[in-house]
Amino acid sequence: MVSNGQHFDFVVVGGGTAGNVVAGRLAENPKVSVLVIEAGEGNPENVPDIMTPAKAMDLRGSDYDWAYKTTMVKRDDYERIEKPNTRGKALGGSSSLNYFTWIPGSKGTFDLWEKFGGSEWTWDKLVPYLRKSATYHDDEGLYDPSLKKIGAGGPLPIAHAELLPEMEGFRKALHDAWTSMGQPLTENIYDGEMIGLTHCVDSIYKGRRSNSVLFVRGKPNITILARTHSKQLLVDPKTKHVSGVTTIDAETGKEQTFYADREVILSQGVFESPKLLMLSGIGPKAELAKHNIPLVVDSPNVGQQLFDHPAVPFVLRVKDGFGMDDHLLHDGPLKQASIKAYANGAHAGPLGSGNLEVVGFPRIDSYLEKDPTYVAAKKANGGLDPFCAQGQPHFELDFVSLFGSAFQWHYPTPKVGNYTSVVVDLVRPVSGPGEVTLNSSNPLDQPNINLNFFENELDIIAMREGIRFSYDLLTKGDGFKDLVVAEFPWDMPLDDDKAMRHAVLDRCQTAFHPCGSNRLSKNIQQGVVDPELKVHGVTGLRVIDASIIPEIPDCRIQNSVYMIGEKGADLIKAAHKDLF
Ligand SMILES: Cc1cc2nc3c(=O)[nH]c(=O)nc-3n(C[C@H](O)[C@H](O)[C@H](O)COP(=O)(O)OP(=O)(O)OC[C@H]3O[C@@H](n4cnc5c(N)ncnc54)[C@H](O)[C@@H]3O)c2cc1C
Repeated sequence: MVSNGQHFDFVVVGGGTAGNVVAGRLAENPKVSVLVIEAGEGNPENVPDIMTPAKAMDLRGSDYDWAYKTTMVKRDDYERIEKPNTRGKALGGSSSLNYFTWIPGSKGTFDLWEKFGGSEWTWDKLVPYLRKSATYHDDEGLYDPSLKKIGAGGPLPIAHAELLPEMEGFRKALHDAWTSMGQPLTENIYDGEMIGLTHCVDSIYKGRRSNSVLFVRGKPNITILARTHSKQLLVDPKTKHVSGVTTIDAETGKEQTFYADREVILSQGVFESPKLLMLSGIGPKAELAKHNIPLVVDSPNVGQQLFDHPAVPFVLRVKDGFGMDDHLLHDGPLKQASIKAYANGAHAGPLGSGNLEVVGFPRIDSYLEKDPTYVAAKKANGGLDPFCAQGQPHFELDFVSLFGSAFQWHYPTPKVGNYTSVVVDLVRPVSGPGEVTLNSSNPLDQPNINLNFFENELDIIAMREGIRFSYDLLTKGDGFKDLVVAEFPWDMPLDDDKAMRHAVLDRCQTAFHPCGSNRLSKNIQQGVVDPELKVHGVTGLRVIDASIIPEIPDCRIQNSVYMIGEKGADLIKAAHKDLF
């Protein structure tokens, strides 16, 4: 299929979410040749657990998971390291493993990107790219037709989460609880304001996962080399030009080299893209010296400025009939009916659902104002909320309608009962950044990852109050309070600040939105790539993936990553006018 030493116009290293968008867009010119190098499985369409939405949480720790060892918290008074931290290892990358929700984020946060990328990287300029990848479907005509604007022609079919009839009582109870807390409802989180409870849009259509693989299929000018790891970028130490990449076959260990006559695009994601830069001599001088890697460019921010959303998930046992557990998790007639409904290409019923139909974006100012540390921090910030001064939500709250194993990973799935899993996701943390460094110079070794959650006490306070808000909503709010049977599998110490602090540190996990480790910047002191996503200090190389994000979006980030892929592809096209 490919031969050692072969030349292509473009080589995309990492066939993940953004990488495939770039490859697919560049290959729109049939005369352009593109090589995509992907470490994982090349045909995720043939893997039922990847394509069946309700199976998504089973992929954690599977063959398709990079399963990183990760430091979650590293404080003087508390430290915790966990494994596995999930990232997709298959064509499509994390878009082949994620939990589907399609959310753009707030204008206020994107406008903060200007400080790093200039005026082209602001909400108004980015909106067309946030909407370019997808085609929105509302086959039943349930929502405002104007929502077609959020995806009107891209290869990725998206749609509102299917409203499972089994969950009608759950939805109504949640709606009543939310409004009884005086919180707003919204069905338009797509124009820059994102406060309220909303029916969410998913990268699922007709019971199947939509992933970035859809960008590269049916294009004979794209060559996909799967189960192949990158080893090193070819960087000329004198000219500092990047001309290709050396790879290692995952099964045989055979090494090959491929050349890009135009550009190399690095899209290995937030942990592996900085790793490959460092292995290739581009990174912080001291870090490279530790591993005897010859320095090509001293780029101090490579692997730095890593941000993620800390989440604390909790579970409530609800009355029977108000969770999907019997339909999907417990053996019995209801599960059999779900399997039958999905079988033979029908893809119908609960197995075709991501089991997250409603998401809440609250501000919880009144809860935070009760804490003196918060009040002092706000005063010191000129009277502005230190988390969300631009009016963004403090939290994304996900209400998953069963026991969600990926959000309660220290406990086995219970064999009986119905549950609601709640993910309390702090979307504008103020803690300092984490980092990605090298464990060794072996390209097959995992990098060393520190998410650095809760470095700042204010984040602990905010999370504590976000949990209290969520408990008030579900256990005291109209409707839902009548569904709750018990806490499970552990009781939240709501009335004790000290015990809550411990619960936050003990129970926090990644919300799966790491970004920033090669951030966008105006110069090499500020970050790793310039506003055209070119790597500072070399030529012929761009980074296009979640690692370039300079300010974490205030929600889940796949929509932002597709946007970066689309904008990155246009930037490349603009630089090769003879081809595009
Ligand atoms: C479990 C999970 C749930 C999530 N849920 C949601 C959600 O509901 N909504 C949402 O908006 N976002 C969600 N996200 C986040 C979102 O999916 C990711 O932020 C996004 O897909 C990242 O895209 P990327 O292009 O940066 O990296 P990836 O898509 O991860 O792509 C990187 C690619 O590079 C390949 N690669 C890595 N190293 C090498 C190497 N050395 N050699 C060759 N190839 C390599 C990988 O195998 C992968 O294919 C979730 C993520 C996860 C993991």
